[in-house]
Amino acid sequence: MKTLVVLLLCSLSFAQQKPKLIVFISIDQMRPDYFERYEKQFTGGFKRMYSEGIVFANATLNYATSETSPGYATLSTGSYPGTSGILSNDWYDPKTLKRVYSVGDSTALPVEGEGGGYSPKNLMASALGDWLKEESITSKVVSVASKDRAAILFGGKRPNYAFWYDRKTGHLVTSSYYVKTLPEWAKKFNAANWIDANLPPAWNKLKSFSEYDSEGPDDLQGEMVWGVGTAFPHPFVLDQRNEQILTSPWGDILTLDFARAAIDGEKLGKRAATDLLCVALSCTDYVGHSFGPNSHEIHDHLLRLDIALGTFMGEIEKTIGAGNVLFVLSADHAVMPLPEYLSNVKKESARRILVDKEIFPKIAALDTLLQREFKASEWLISRYGFLNYAAAKKAKIGEEKLERMVRDSLLKIDGIVDVYFRRELMNKKTANRPYLGQFQRSYYPPRGEDFQVRYCENCLLTTRPTGTSHGSPYKYDTHVPVMFMGWGLKPARVDREIHSVDVAPTLARILGLKPPKTVDGAALKEISK
Ligand SMILES: [Zn+2]
Repeated sequence: MKTLVVLLLCSLSFAQQKPKLIVFISIDQMRPDYFERYEKQFTGGFKRMYSEGIVFANATLNYATSETSPGYATLSTGSYPGTSGILSNDWYDPKTLKRVYSVGDSTALPVEGEGGGYSPKNLMASALGDWLKEESITSKVVSVASKDRAAILFGGKRPNYAFWYDRKTGHLVTSSYYVKTLPEWAKKFNAANWIDANLPPAWNKLKSFSEYDSEGPDDLQGEMVWGVGTAFPHPFVLDQRNEQILTSPWGDILTLDFARAAIDGEKLGKRAATDLLCVALSCTDYVGHSFGPNSHEIHDHLLRLDIALGTFMGEIEKTIGAGNVLFVLSADHAVMPLPEYLSNVKKESARRILVDKEIFPKIAALDTLLQREFKASEWLISRYGFLNYAAAKKAKIGEEKLERMVRDSLLKIDGIVDVYFRRELMNKKTANRPYLGQFQRSYYPPRGEDFQVRYCENCLLTTRPTGTSHGSPYKYDTHVPVMFMGWGLKPARVDREIHSVDVAPTLARILGLKPPKTVDGAALKEISK
């Protein structure tokens, strides 16, 4: 009897120990070094996460395709792209060679927005929100982002809601996959026209100009033109504001305000069960793409986001109780500095490779050469990563011979440093070589190409003469923040290497959920009271 009472008390106190609300925040394209660089200037949410949280300083994606869709699918499912099936933002179907958008779904209709319908139908793994709702039917799962793919993949297969920003209307919308109509509180939010009420006439610097000098001049070589120029101020143009807001801090502030409305509207964290709110802040990505991670723009963006996050977190704690909320912060990927910044300021060897000029024509020339050599009547190699094995067979070229020739020829193209073929990516016993594991973990055979290419480090693959990007397996793209704060956790710094795939299993353990056996990540032992 005594044991039973003790057991009962134990399980009761354990139940009470679960957070009432998990706020899982992901900052699109967030680099961990921002926290060090701007530590002295942060006063809000970033400061709190970094100083009061458990900070994993050495967290990486551990897979090759450092893009948004696999980033969110990995954070939510605890599985690599090779398991979740979300191997990139979009891919070419190996059978039809038609482009597939990771969250595209022709059967889903837009609700309140314009354009196509979206859903997680391509997501092959269940996510944290799904595990939570399976275990506790009264728990609510809500996902909010400015990007459709971020909101959808972060939310999992069956959240209560996933909302994203619609560029045409300037509103937060969803699709018929989730609901037929927006909840009343969301309609009310949209009706209040946030942009009219909150967007200033121009994006100006928050602090005095001298406080931004540490990173070099405002007008760095390689920055993209935003509106009228590459330096502050950046005026908003009336008929372009719905689009321009995304390349500004206000796109993220809008998302946070909507997330706050969702907490009130859905009464998140106010019932007996744990709720999950996923918030993806995507505008860091747009600003980073345009100006790079060393720009005054990203610096200012982060200063403003830090303040907005601080307010957001403080208000949640006030309504739900500080000890009842667990905040988690991570990112879908990081970003490469502008190659011009690396070479001019850092004196590192770096360059911009214009794929349309420097890569694709060479692959087309290789195809012509191979066709002529083997008297083949059809294409043999496509720039999208496919080989025409059937045509090669007709021309009496064996599969491995074709691959050897393709590999040798591709390696002669300036910028390409390795080629990984389907058979190598599918076979776990392939002799190890640099980045093979990362490419294997990114590879989902039914959707994968016949070959994947690795480009040189500090080489930006792009179609544009300005701006920067991500997508490589290198550390500048794959080193991400992972932080847990609140719910009575004590601040700590952890230096061992962990991966973004570990976050969802960690939250599952806290909530007593059972993720499927296919999950690739492991619960982080440092996260316990
Ligand atoms: Zn991006």
